[in-house]
Amino acid sequence: MDTSTLVPAPVARTNDGSPPTPRRWVRLFEEGGADQRDLLGGKGANLAEMVRMGLPVPPGFTVTTEACRATTAADGTAPSELADEVRSAIAHLEQVTGLGFGDPTAPLLLSVRSGAKFSMPGMMDTVLDLGLNPETVAGLEAKTGDRWFALDAYRRLLDLFGRVVLGVPEEQLSAAATPLLERHAVTDPSGLPVEGLEELIAAYDAAIVAATGRPFPTDPWEQLDAAILAVFRSWNGNRAVTYRRMEGISDDLGTAVNVQVMVFGNAGDDSGTGVAFTRDPATGEARPVGDFLLHAQGEDVVAGTRTTEPLSHLGAVFPECEVELLEVFRRLEERYRDLCDIEFTIEHGTLYVLQTRVGKRTALAALRIAVELVDEGVIEPAEAVARFTPDQLEMLLHPRFDPAASYEPVTRGLAASPGAAAGEVVLTADAAVARAAEGVDVLLVRPQTSPEDLHGILAARGVLTSRGGLVSHAAVVARGIGKPAVCGAADLVVDPDAGTVTIGDVVIHAGDTISIDGTSGDVVVGEVAVVAPAAPPELVRLLGWADEVRELRVLTNADTPEDARAALERGAEGIGLCRTEHQFLGDRLPLVRHVILATDDADRDEAIADLYVQQRHDFVELLEAVDGLPVTVRLLDPPLHEFLPRVEQLLVADATRGLSEEEHHLLDGALAWREDDPMLGIRGVRLGLLRPEIYAVQVRALLDAAVERSAAGGDPQVRIMIPLVSAPAELAAALAAVRAVAAEVEAAAGHPLSYEVGAMIETPRAALLAGVIAEQVDFLSFGTNDLTQMTFGFSRDDVEARLLPPYLAQGILPADPFETIDVDGVGELVRTAVERIRATDPTVDISVCGEHGGDPTSVGFFSAVGFDDVSCSPFRVPVARLAAAHAELGLLGPASHDASV
Ligand code: PEP
Ligand code: MG
Repeated sequence: MDTSTLVPAPVARTNDGSPPTPRRWVRLFEEGGADQRDLLGGKGANLAEMVRMGLPVPPGFTVTTEACRATTAADGTAPSELADEVRSAIAHLEQVTGLGFGDPTAPLLLSVRSGAKFSMPGMMDTVLDLGLNPETVAGLEAKTGDRWFALDAYRRLLDLFGRVVLGVPEEQLSAAATPLLERHAVTDPSGLPVEGLEELIAAYDAAIVAATGRPFPTDPWEQLDAAILAVFRSWNGNRAVTYRRMEGISDDLGTAVNVQVMVFGNAGDDSGTGVAFTRDPATGEARPVGDFLLHAQGEDVVAGTRTTEPLSHLGAVFPECEVELLEVFRRLEERYRDLCDIEFTIEHGTLYVLQTRVGKRTALAALRIAVELVDEGVIEPAEAVARFTPDQLEMLLHPRFDPAASYEPVTRGLAASPGAAAGEVVLTADAAVARAAEGVDVLLVRPQTSPEDLHGILAARGVLTSRGGLVSHAAVVARGIGKPAVCGAADLVVDPDAGTVTIGDVVIHAGDTISIDGTSGDVVVGEVAVVAPAAPPELVRLLGWADEVRELRVLTNADTPEDARAALERGAEGIGLCRTEHQFLGDRLPLVRHVILATDDADRDEAIADLYVQQRHDFVELLEAVDGLPVTVRLLDPPLHEFLPRVEQLLVADATRGLSEEEHHLLDGALAWREDDPMLGIRGVRLGLLRPEIYAVQVRALLDAAVERSAAGGDPQVRIMIPLVSAPAELAAALAAVRAVAAEVEAAAGHPLSYEVGAMIETPRAALLAGVIAEQVDFLSFGTNDLTQMTFGFSRDDVEARLLPPYLAQGILPADPFETIDVDGVGELVRTAVERIRATDPTVDISVCGEHGGDPTSVGFFSAVGFDDVSCSPFRVPVARLAAAHAELGLLGPASHDASV
């Protein structure tokens, strides 16, 4: 076929040279541009742009997304003008190619492809070689002198058209082809000889009649009209709808249809086809990569039925095309200022570009490309920041299941702490420690965890629980130390006594290997390969640029010097929350118990003295690790049930074996402090006021530690924070006690101390009274875990197991409110509180230290509402830095849900 005329003149003209008649539903490629994605879809807009750039694109036109929307709205009936407009556009193609649609002597053949605004790869339908029928096949053969080629094109049309347009089930078409392929001893129709293709065409014809009751439509116009409608229909096909749900693409957009003159990579050995990327989409390396096939059509490359050649071999076969292709790459990158991917075809030695788009890439490649484009002077640093999302960063920072691994999850729980791990099942914390000490990778599987399990969590590669939500103990601790966790996997029955974990019919024993993915919530029996993250060198630079863009300060939730150092290494600017009760987990638990349960003054004094020694040591270390930066110490806030012995266990022990004197004492104490609802009980400032000696000793230990650090030449920046306030008077009483102790420490030190005081806003009442509360403090920090619990009236430990999954599935809630801030309810309280705080005192520092402080979407909200800081677990600090920059660039922020219901 003579292809030299295929590239059109840049501006379409009708036969007499007058400008084309305006069309409503159809645009020639030369009439559009890259900025018309809404109307032309991504593919159509980019084809138009390439035509505008003078790149070698086969001519064509786009039926607009508006036409799709109009057709869908009219129950599948296309607008009345469409058929005429398509005919006028075809007339134009006939004119620029010198071919005729349906003309047996010089047949014009078309590809018909979908193309929505957002790329939905493989989700919608394509028809190739449209316009063929027995006469035009003969014409194609006569023109090319190649019967095999003409028949091969026709069998492809019958196959695609049969499936896509006529709805013939794929199995029926393959059933028609299989015996024939076997007889000719080939696996793919492209291996058939001429007679084989003739038989295949007859078999497809018969299959189409059998399935539809009608023969294949030989009229090219009928083919074209039906194919356009089929592409419109495919917008609402199952595959496309599911993909849109997953990617959050609106159903209202519709797809465009691109009708383009066919070029043939299967026209002979001087032809071929391929896909290529201007840079490596896996690694981001700045070198073109791709695959091509000689003597083939594009679908053969994608289908993977034939072994492709790497793009680097193209020059050996088509040296001129390679030079031209590299120039196309250069121009595309110059125009789009980003990695582009293209589909190309070489027909008898001539190169054509069939489509391009800004290409998808891995998280790693996204980072590298963004940074290198800055170095190349193509984009500004702020744009590089915008091009690398917090979600991509999360992916990079945590180990994950090897993308090449295949596995079948046995169940799914909450994705509680990102990362993946495989290991031997252990059912107690002690077993975790023992096996880990032998060098075995273990996963701690528990119904739920409590502070007593901390050593087991530390020893394990990851944690799996059957109960508890995203702010359950296991989840918070695992996130804090950067280990994967899947929580609330409700199908799991964990029986530590029997040494088993049961999921339906599947029984897993202690010692068996399982794998968990805390990013997806998947639980897999057996070992799935895990790939480790490697923080790429570009990350430091990109996060540095993010820091220049962002206004929010990023603090961390850290309880130990190790946590604090991990966070500082990741760019934290201080500690926004040190949960002092976490300093008493594990083997220090009895110390806190002792203080709470002390019966007489001597006992209490002894316990307090012990506590002082421990706490002072803790604070000296922490202040040293975070020297010169704020350290926000929250006074004790233990939900009592986490620290007291279990009454039930002691009662059972009493009945079976009797209790020791010490255990009797514990039981009495546990009974005395027992609460039906500990999360709403004697916690935070409430405990601080009922047991004033606890806060007093903590403040003394902290301020003495600060004096010690100052004397040693350090620069301690102490902030004392009172938790769970709901009445301004509670706060006033607690702060009076703080100041009284501070005065004593100052007197002993002989000089005034510098420290700040603050309160947490984590009850709805505190949020509403935040203006009054602000009068008493230097800073306020929103505890959005408790605030969410109390605003919804959801128990934060229970709700995620049973209630949230159906609520999320039914769309009653748009997201887990313990993960992403609920803008409409909790967010409204936050917004109101911030307004009232600012009205009282515009300078009070406003922060958040609930888990939402590390959630990118929520960070967008806090930034918009006017927060000064966010505080998150150490391993999320880089994500928060990037999210804060994205928030500043207007790229983040959760949308209202309830307002639109
Ligand atoms: C909170 O409630 O958001 C908070 C940070 O405190 P905790 O999770 O320790 O209750
Ligand atoms: Mg709280």
